[in-house]
Amino acid sequence: MSHLRFKQIEIALNREPFDVKPPHPDPTVYFGQHVFDQKKMATYLPRDAYEELTAAIKGKRAIGRELADVVAQGMKKWAMDNGATHYTHWFHPLTDGTAEKHDSFIGYAPQGKGIITDFSGKLLIQQEPDASSFPSGGLRNTFEARGYTAWDISSPAFIHNGALCIPTIFIAYSGESLDYKTPLLRALNCIDRAGTKVARLFDPQVQHVISYLGWEQEYFLIDEALFAARPDLVMTGRTLMGHESAKNQQLDDHYFGSIPMRVQRFMEDLEIECYQLGIPLKTKHNEVAPNQFELAPIYEEANLSNDHNLLLMKVMAQVARRHKFRAILHEKPFAGINGSGKHNNWSLGTDTGVQLFKPGKTPMQNLQFIAFIAATMAAVHKHNDLVKASIATANNTHRLGANEAPPAIISIFLGRQLSKVIDQITGHQQADGQIMFSAKEGLNLQMAQIPEILLDNTDRNRTSPFAFTGNRFEFRAVGASANCASAMIVLNTIVADQLNAFHQAVTAHLEQGDTLEQAVMEQVQQLLTQAKPIHFDGNGYSEQWPQEAASRGLDTENSVPRMIDAYSTPKARALFERTHVFSQAEIKARSEVKWETYCKKIHIEASVIADLTQNHILPVAIRYQNILLDNVLKLKALGKQSSTSPVNVTIEHIAENITGIDEHQRLLTQAIEHAMAQPDSRLQAFAFASLVVPHIDAIRHHVDALELLVDDEMWPLPKYRELLFIR
Ligand code: ADP
Ligand code: MG
Repeated sequence: MSHLRFKQIEIALNREPFDVKPPHPDPTVYFGQHVFDQKKMATYLPRDAYEELTAAIKGKRAIGRELADVVAQGMKKWAMDNGATHYTHWFHPLTDGTAEKHDSFIGYAPQGKGIITDFSGKLLIQQEPDASSFPSGGLRNTFEARGYTAWDISSPAFIHNGALCIPTIFIAYSGESLDYKTPLLRALNCIDRAGTKVARLFDPQVQHVISYLGWEQEYFLIDEALFAARPDLVMTGRTLMGHESAKNQQLDDHYFGSIPMRVQRFMEDLEIECYQLGIPLKTKHNEVAPNQFELAPIYEEANLSNDHNLLLMKVMAQVARRHKFRAILHEKPFAGINGSGKHNNWSLGTDTGVQLFKPGKTPMQNLQFIAFIAATMAAVHKHNDLVKASIATANNTHRLGANEAPPAIISIFLGRQLSKVIDQITGHQQADGQIMFSAKEGLNLQMAQIPEILLDNTDRNRTSPFAFTGNRFEFRAVGASANCASAMIVLNTIVADQLNAFHQAVTAHLEQGDTLEQAVMEQVQQLLTQAKPIHFDGNGYSEQWPQEAASRGLDTENSVPRMIDAYSTPKARALFERTHVFSQAEIKARSEVKWETYCKKIHIEASVIADLTQNHILPVAIRYQNILLDNVLKLKALGKQSSTSPVNVTIEHIAENITGIDEHQRLLTQAIEHAMAQPDSRLQAFAFASLVVPHIDAIRHHVDALELLVDDEMWPLPKYRELLFIR
């Protein structure tokens, strides 16, 4: 009898929901309580320092040493008033998650006169954490390990776990970025400049274009006791074995169902902490799979929104523990049921308050709307391989092309209404007796109709990786555990690049005497015609789609390590060079890190599955087989046994699966050796994907078969039905 499994089940079954008490019934009273926001700046900084800092944040200018000292003093006072004892630069290395190193505020007073608390502008602005233990893709050798972090003033400092956290970028001494934030800020800057140029064609008042991000975070909650009895979940974040439970999501009874009480309390608790940290959570609900949930905030400027997502993932893990759950952010923790994504809702807006992906009230505004849609479509079309590479990770492999959103092909869903508008503009469809859109005539009338036709644009397509949803694009292929920055860097860069080209072409037409309408329409038609292959409103899961996509010239590569090559094609290199988002060295380094990470994750999975089968599964299977053999002998003694009896068949099946495990275990070891012997990380990753992964899958197949054969009382690991239905 498996003592641990049944003990853990009993613990999990007997849990009670924890009580949660908000600090105040009205969340606006404590929203942003732990954030050094405008209000706290005004209170804790002298007036002129406050004004200078506000101006610097708005203009994103660097701040001088003197101002930094004053700000540091104010921040320290506020932090200590609110219980913080330490400070840390908070940054996003090229691993999953964030990094921090806490330093206490204490220091010696001058001339050894006792202990004081101190925090200087120098420490606020810049630090030098040892960079040697973070992935750098060969950008620095360990003997020149120095890297430095520098304050990102556009994202406010906050208090978490008793430390004042200062959002920072992380770069090598040679100047190359070692993090996600640096290139994200570059890309956002890029789209600001390019977008502004184009928006100013329509409204000279525009000074800035802002990129917005609203993420939807999917996750699983698993009881802590059951989690602890699954070494694969603990070590790799996903189950490497486990037979599907008889009931999972077929009845569609979980999505939007009533939230279980323990989960409800967890969500309330999480919401309170997030509000205190200024994260504007808005929506929460059950997701499609059992024990799967989702939450989403109100969208924000992309850099801040991404910081908030990274912070949320941390806070979620902590709050889950408080409620005796583990939050699972892996993209595919359970085979056979939906995995978890992080839809990135993305849009652009002007500082004059115009949402650029939302149809406007005047023909001019609609012309602008169509221009931005066309530029986005053209960019995603041209760089669909790179867009896919931006979300390609070992974890996300199981979602991509695995018969679940999204397929490993990037296409854009527009919906019936916008498709119709675009078909009319490109002349593919004659509107019911109306004149078609054209650069020369009838434009105003037609453009004025866009908002009306889009009003009832409510159709959705869950199979599309990139969908227009009325006022934004929803990039659905992003993985649940990913740093959104990876996707946001690529998306903003490619669209910025396209907008630059668009502006140049339109300006040339204007110089030749075309009207703005003519010039824009000409370009829009050209871009939409070019980008036509990326537009696909059909079923992304259908068997025909990959073939059709290939005939349209879209990238259909479905091996993750090979997708990463898209970063270093001549096309991508030129793009990053033009836009200054990545240097050549950075592209190389990042690709290295992606391949290395891929190899490490698969290697860990291989080791864990080997240990589990050897130490947990095989001993039990053999013990059970012996019991059956014993039974056969006893029956034989009674003269009651034939070789075709069910017991004999079961013994046979157990033996086959044990042999299968042995066989694939041997091949797995060989495959790993072969992969590790490859000369570089790219080839290693290719080998891990094509040679190692199939044996991991095969071992799993045999273990899952054993799970159905072996006595339930003896099975050592909590089963899917227990992991997914106890809460
Ligand atoms: P659904 O599941 O129907 O797609 P949700 O309400 O779960 O919708 O999530 C929608 C997400 O889109 C939220 O994060 C929301 O803030 C974000 N969002 C809404 N409008 C915009 C916009 N204009 N730009 C960026 N994100 C947006
Ligand atoms: Mg949603």
